[in-house]
Amino acid sequence: MAKSPYRPFHPNPEQIALMPSVSGNTINGLGETPFRRAAPIYWHEPETLHHGELQKWFYTQNPDNEAINKARAARNSILNIEVPPVSGPPLQQSAEKWTQELAAFVESIDCELFGITALNPDWTYEGAGLTQNWVIMVGVAHDYEQIATAPEMTAGAEVIKQYGRGSKAVKDIAGWIHDRGWDADCHGGPMAGPLLLVPHAIECGFGELGKHGSIINREYGSSFRLAAVVTDIPLIPTPKATYHVDDFCERCQVCANACPPEAILPEKVMVRGNTKWYVDFDKCIPFFNENSGCAICIAACPWSIPGRGPKIVQQLLRRAARSAR
Ligand code: SF4
Ligand code: SF4
Repeated sequence: MAKSPYRPFHPNPEQIALMPSVSGNTINGLGETPFRRAAPIYWHEPETLHHGELQKWFYTQNPDNEAINKARAARNSILNIEVPPVSGPPLQQSAEKWTQELAAFVESIDCELFGITALNPDWTYEGAGLTQNWVIMVGVAHDYEQIATAPEMTAGAEVIKQYGRGSKAVKDIAGWIHDRGWDADCHGGPMAGPLLLVPHAIECGFGELGKHGSIINREYGSSFRLAAVVTDIPLIPTPKATYHVDDFCERCQVCANACPPEAILPEKVMVRGNTKWYVDFDKCIPFFNENSGCAICIAACPWSIPGRGPKIVQQLLRRAARSAR
C-alpha cells in the first residue's frame, strides 16, 4: 500500500506545548521486562493524568461539526440511562443455564459480538480493585463506509456512535442481570474505567491482536468497538479464537504505511513483561487528537473490509496446514 498522503505530519504547536515531560511509552511500560499492571494514561479522569491536558484539548477540536456534536449528544443520552437496580435476592440456577439464557437475551439486543471470560486482575488498571468473577464482552461494528472516511470527521462521528451503541448494549445486559437478583457493572468506551477491555476481549474469543494494536476479528476485522459488564452471576467462558493473525501481520505493512505519524512499530516489543505489537503513544496521540480520533489504521487493515476476513482465515489455515506437513 502507498505511504500515507498525510505525511509528513507536523503536530500543532498548541499540542506540543501541552506534552508532558514524561513519555506515554514510559507510562505504558515499553521495554520493561517485569510484569506490572497497566497505568492509566489517557481515557481516565484528565486531572489525574500526565496527558490530561491533551485529552482536554482533544475535546476542544471541531466544536462546530454537526456530525460529531450529534453523535456526542446521542451518546450522552445513552450514558444518562439509568440501569434498573438489583431486584432482590439472587436467583439460583446452573452456570450452563445462565449462560444459555444470557446468550439468548444478547441475541435480542443491538450488538454484533458477545463473549464471556474470567476477570483477570492482571488486566485491570493499577489501583483498581475489581472482585467480580466474570467479564461479559460485547462488540459493536462500525459502518465500514463511514469508518473508511478516516481521518475525516465522519469517521470520528461513527466511532462516537458505536461507543454509544456499546454502552447501551452493556446497560441492557446489566439490567437483565439485575432483574435476576445479581449485581453487574457496565464499562463502555472511550473512558477506560478500571478494566482493560482488549485482553479480556481476546480471551473470550473476539480475535487476536494486530500490528496496529487493535483486535482483529474474523468477521469484522478491526472495525468495531468494545464494552463490558463485570458480574458474579455464574457463567461459562466462551472459547478463545486463534487463526494465525501473527502470520499475516508479519508479512503485511498496510497499517504501518497508512499511519501518518509512523507510530506503528514493525516488530513486536517488550511491554510490561509481554512481547506484543505496539503503537508508539507519543507519535500517535498528536495526530489522533487533531483528526477526530484518527482510526486510519483500523479502517485500512484488510481484515476490516466487509467479507474479507473469512477469506483471509481460510488462506491462513491452508498455509498453516501446508507448513505442518
Ligand atoms: S490511530 Fe494512531 S496508530 Fe492508528 S493510524 Fe492514526 S495515528 Fe497511526
Ligand atoms: S494492516 Fe496488516 S499488519 Fe496492520 S494489523 Fe492489519 S493485517 Fe496486521
